[in-house]
Amino acid sequence: MATSPQQATATGTAADKEIEQFDVVVIGAGVTGLYALYRMRELGFSVKVLDEASGVGGTWYWARYPGCRFDSESYSYGYSFSEELLQEWDWKEHYSGQPENERYLNYVADKFDLRPNIRFNTRVASAVYDDEENRWQVEAKDGWKVKGQFLITAVGLLSAGYIPDFEGINSFKGPWCHTGRWPKEGMDLAGKRVGVVGTGATAVQLIPMIAPEVAHLTVFQRTANFCAPLRNGPIDADTMNEIKANYPEIFRICSETAGSFMHEFDQRSAMEVSEEERLEQYEELWQKPGFAKWLSNFRDVMVPGEANEDYAEFVRNKIRERVHDPVVAEMLVPKDHTFGAKRVPCETGYYDAYNRDNVLLVDVRKAPIECITPTGIKTADAEYDLDVIIYATGYDAVTGALLNIDIHGQGGQTLREKFVDGPRTYLGISSVGFPNLFTVNAASVGNFVRAAEPLMDWVSECISYIRDNGYTRITPTLEAEDAWVKHVNEDGENILRTKTTSWFVGANIPGKARALLTAPDTAPAMRNKRAEVAANNYEGFVLE
Ligand code: NAP
Repeated sequence: MATSPQQATATGTAADKEIEQFDVVVIGAGVTGLYALYRMRELGFSVKVLDEASGVGGTWYWARYPGCRFDSESYSYGYSFSEELLQEWDWKEHYSGQPENERYLNYVADKFDLRPNIRFNTRVASAVYDDEENRWQVEAKDGWKVKGQFLITAVGLLSAGYIPDFEGINSFKGPWCHTGRWPKEGMDLAGKRVGVVGTGATAVQLIPMIAPEVAHLTVFQRTANFCAPLRNGPIDADTMNEIKANYPEIFRICSETAGSFMHEFDQRSAMEVSEEERLEQYEELWQKPGFAKWLSNFRDVMVPGEANEDYAEFVRNKIRERVHDPVVAEMLVPKDHTFGAKRVPCETGYYDAYNRDNVLLVDVRKAPIECITPTGIKTADAEYDLDVIIYATGYDAVTGALLNIDIHGQGGQTLREKFVDGPRTYLGISSVGFPNLFTVNAASVGNFVRAAEPLMDWVSECISYIRDNGYTRITPTLEAEDAWVKHVNEDGENILRTKTTSWFVGANIPGKARALLTAPDTAPAMRNKRAEVAANNYEGFVLE
């Protein structure tokens, strides 16, 4: 293995001379890919990172729609690996917006001189493992190739945008886009008749931002969501100094909570306390910013049952209070799923947008979208004339971006075929028949960077272990993989995330197998599991 961090390894056959070789190839220059590059280079590996975008940032590069911002506290989301970085960077808002987040990731790339190792404008088409060479050959859409002993797919959890296969979609004469691929030059919406399809976390951020600007906005809603006020605000210099002094405590709290957020559940049961106390607590949480009203609640609000329904009704009433027209209010009140089973979108002015004269809410559960016409959207009972259509219709989550790459493992088997009934991995990151492949995009849910950093630490230590102990290849055992899949499926049944149709279980994509796409474990439990595996000389893996 190479020891010169910046250079390609000079191995390979004569025929491959022109194909550059690296110890590690990373797909994706988002939050995880940038950190993978930093760590691998620090450990002395040669690394090449590939990204389709022309700049760093991943999600924070592509999702430029108005209103796009963190739902996690900015200072809990940033990298923790560099004290210098923590002390240098001033977050401007408690829940920072896409432009600042992209600036932050660019700042990181410059500070640690990461760009020389990244090939931008490179859409990866395939990755093929050569058993004899023990190398992954990665090929871009433009035919450019690179080889790596290890392949890390840092392709993101929510990066493969999904647009329903509506009949006539390409016949629409006006501009249209998916929110996850918002044009860099922006969309001209001023004075236009705009349609937004979808009312998930993305649409909830977008709608109040564009409603005052457009001539008319039609929102096509299939499922109402439980949304909670974000209560964002600026961070002044004194507060930022306090945050900087408090980073160890912030990261300690995140390291102990289930989803790595700064919010801890109240260990009491909602039903144990008096109604007065319960309502007082609900109200207090409601006034707090961010996810507090979800993740600092009574512990039994997070499981289906009486407490969950009690709180759900509290939230429904909050929605009813905000929306003036009682018919529209009832359309916005979720009645078909439990609170917390779907990701709770945080909003700023979302419900108030429906009090505007130029905003119309259309129920496409009752009258589904039949087709897109050259001039708008046709539902089962009406036609809506539009100048612009925005699809806030979500993502083919976790496996989508991974399986968009044609990945061939040992014996030519493809990951696409292997995952046809849902992901088959060990610990979410490694799969039998695909040696030295780390599918890190599949392995974290929650406060993303808090999960990505320790995961990449584990992967980089694993690769160092392989190098330092004279091994060249790692692959899980079939027993370990089977046991992990069984654990995900069986224990997944006990968590709220599997109780509804959402991206968490692939249920938002027609034809996708229903399976929990991430681990059912809490973040601390996952870290402990991985640590135990490493401490036992990578138990469950075969090292060759
Ligand atoms: P989403 O939650 O999957 O929402 C997609 C929306 O499109 C839903 O309302 C869905 O309706 C609708 N839809 C899909 N197909 C449709 C069809 N054929 N006809 C009508 N409506 C259709 O996607 P998202 O809002 O992009 O959010 C995805 C995830 O991204 C979130 O859960 C969150 O984890 C992340 N996110 C994070 C932030 C943040 O951190 N601040 C912001 C935005 C997003 P149904 O519900 O009926 O399927």
